[in-house]
Amino acid sequence: MTTGLMMERIRHAFGATEVLKDVSIVAEAGKLTCLLGPSGCGKTTLLRLAAGLEKVQDGQIYLQGRMVGDGKTGLCLAPEKRGIGLMFQDYALFPHLNVYENIAFGIRNLTPERRTWIDAGLERMGVAKHRNSYPHVLSGGQQQRVALLRALAPEPEILLLDEPFSGLDVTRRAQVREDTLNFLKECGVAVLMVTHDPEEAMFMADHIVVMKSGKVVQAGTPVQTYFHPVSAFVAELFGAMNHFEGVVEKGQLETPFGAFPIPSIPDGEPAQVLVRMEGINVSLDAHHTVPSTCRTTTGHVVDTYLLGRSSHLHIRVPRTPGQGLSDDNEIILHVRVPGVMKPEPGATVTVWADPKQVFAFALS
Ligand code: ATP
Repeated sequence: MTTGLMMERIRHAFGATEVLKDVSIVAEAGKLTCLLGPSGCGKTTLLRLAAGLEKVQDGQIYLQGRMVGDGKTGLCLAPEKRGIGLMFQDYALFPHLNVYENIAFGIRNLTPERRTWIDAGLERMGVAKHRNSYPHVLSGGQQQRVALLRALAPEPEILLLDEPFSGLDVTRRAQVREDTLNFLKECGVAVLMVTHDPEEAMFMADHIVVMKSGKVVQAGTPVQTYFHPVSAFVAELFGAMNHFEGVVEKGQLETPFGAFPIPSIPDGEPAQVLVRMEGINVSLDAHHTVPSTCRTTTGHVVDTYLLGRSSHLHIRVPRTPGQGLSDDNEIILHVRVPGVMKPEPGATVTVWADPKQVFAFALS
């Protein structure tokens, strides 16, 4: 039996609307598992079921191998008996308790060892000097750190986090996220975290569970999810992509980067090839030599947007490589390159796609 959390064949409905449709997930001890998916796909409902805030209608839930919820028998162990730590996006600190009291609140027996843990945690998360402050004087980032310590203080077997960084501004979020991740790794607790931010999931997770409309559509490591998406939906979660659609001929689909093999889709069937914006490289040298594994084409810059850390280019390329540009044989590529690149509109560029960032799927 798996340690950590195991949810098996969970179905859940609000009235006549089924919001979880046969969902099974595992959040292993010592690992951070992210539930990733668009708004309304059922992530929070799954987390609330794990916490015991929602009663299981169908399926089973196990924590550390012990059944805590069962649709058949109606078993629903109370949240406080599950050994879980919970943290929601609004942090929900008690306004009438100071930082130390908030953190100590859930500890039944405040032993010297637990006091030492709180002191070390306050130092570790950089909020020691606020131990006697009340929540309303803390910044969002400080409140988040205190809420995390409060959730971990009773030594839960699993920590459930619902969008824990969404209330923070962009500049603060990266640092709080990194500190939180390091602290969680030191604690070694199983973590199940809900997010709709793919970058956050990539950064934090050991294991990503992608959900869509109440179902798990892919589960795997961040690398598997990013580089081996099982569908266009999963691929596009990580950002807008270039789409090339057509009909499969001789096991291939024509794209501006040449014919792309699609052995899994029969000839005559519609299909799509997707290329990530960051999977396309650009050289201002019209005769740039590209790696032999990459397909290349030549295009003209339409316009460029500087985004700071990266630049977003629109480039006109022939729909079929080797042919000239014309109104009915051109396509606009959306490309993101790191750093600042601002070629003049109309400049001729060499463009090539990284094969690892090209994906083919049936067009349904
Ligand atoms: P978000 O990222 O926006 O929080 P989510 O993926 O966490 O979305 P849920 O909050 O689990 O999704 O909601 C799933 C579906 O269930 C949504 O359609 C939502 O409107 C519905 N829902 C959630 N809670 C209730 C409730 N108590 N009563 C009725 N419908 C609900």
